[in-house]
Amino acid sequence: MINPDPSQRNIRLRRGAPASALGTGLYVHVPFCMRKCLYCDFNSYAASSDQISAYVEALLAEIRLYAGLNEFQNVAFTTLFIGGGTPTLLPVSDLERIIRVASSLSVQPPEEISIEANPGTVSPDSLQALRRMGINRLSLGVQSFDGRLLQVLGRVHTADEAVAAVDWARRAGFANINLDLMFALPGQSLQQWQATLAAALDLQPEHISCYSLIIEEGTPFGQMYDKGLLPLPGEDLEAEMFEYAVRQLKAAGYEHYEISNFARPGYRCKHNQIYWRCAPYLGLGCGAHSYWGGERRANAAKPAEYRRLALQGRLPIVERQVLTKDEQMDESMMLGLRMLEGVSAKGFRRRFGLQLTDVYGPQIQRLQASGLVHWDSDRLSLTPRGVLLGNQVFAAFLRG
Ligand code: SF4
Repeated sequence: MINPDPSQRNIRLRRGAPASALGTGLYVHVPFCMRKCLYCDFNSYAASSDQISAYVEALLAEIRLYAGLNEFQNVAFTTLFIGGGTPTLLPVSDLERIIRVASSLSVQPPEEISIEANPGTVSPDSLQALRRMGINRLSLGVQSFDGRLLQVLGRVHTADEAVAAVDWARRAGFANINLDLMFALPGQSLQQWQATLAAALDLQPEHISCYSLIIEEGTPFGQMYDKGLLPLPGEDLEAEMFEYAVRQLKAAGYEHYEISNFARPGYRCKHNQIYWRCAPYLGLGCGAHSYWGGERRANAAKPAEYRRLALQGRLPIVERQVLTKDEQMDESMMLGLRMLEGVSAKGFRRRFGLQLTDVYGPQIQRLQASGLVHWDSDRLSLTPRGVLLGNQVFAAFLRG
């Protein structure tokens, strides 16, 4: 847990890691994809194999820079998450080097090592190699089991390839698999969403994430939307799709533990919980963000700028923001409330030395009156209506 007292924070930094009972995360960003999906505004690019190997060298250089810093001599990272982009576009030998060097930043092996993968970029052999190098959680970007909708999204894979990827992953020994699904897609009916969920459940993954499509400016979908060319389901149908997913997944034994995330007991994503609980994490790679010692940091987003800095022997950080205590409290509310268990009043008091109701009394009263939150004097959490209208709730905790 990050100590809100700045002087204590400095002492911690001199000694080493900001120890956290909530875990400490390490994130590695791989910004490459076979081609850009039509809705995507993530920091990802189609790239040549030369660009990919140059990036890997920069990434290894960045990790070594951290390894040489005093404050990273004694850090126990509990999770390592390799995300993107499509990390499985990298040659297996490069992934192996990244994991080996990244793991050397930690005084003990991370409990959870996840990799994001897209169907169509894995094979039985590559999955076996990933498993052998210690990766114990596979997150597959399936999005839909409807072939036509996959084409609409500009995805590079088919539904059959997604099914095959899960089968190969099981044979390779992956006992913790997440499937990412998307709903509220252009032209998608409730029945089509139901069919995708049923196909996902047939594969018996340990974890399922369900995200509604967000139209981002500057993407092909954003342009089509502006021209009125994207037949999106209305808000009511989108809510119906989400509520259907919650019902079905709960009935199938999944815990709804975060707005968009469902897990079989014991399979919640440890790494993402570090973000939602505002525990410390270090992000490596272009555009990666960190939360370290009470400071938010961002790396250079463009791979070329990132490479230049890292290969010059400079940490590629281009933004730093020390959070005030008020900002830390607001963030802990906005992120903590994403989890269905909500925010513990006792935990808040322990962390910030203040009563939750002294800081946010009016907000809690107002949100309670609107039926968006449940407050039992020990815990503040979203109601089912609050889950649907989460953004309204989070906005209420953004002061200043
Ligand atoms: S695979 Fe993921 S990161 Fe890559 S372009 Fe598609 S949505 Fe974006």
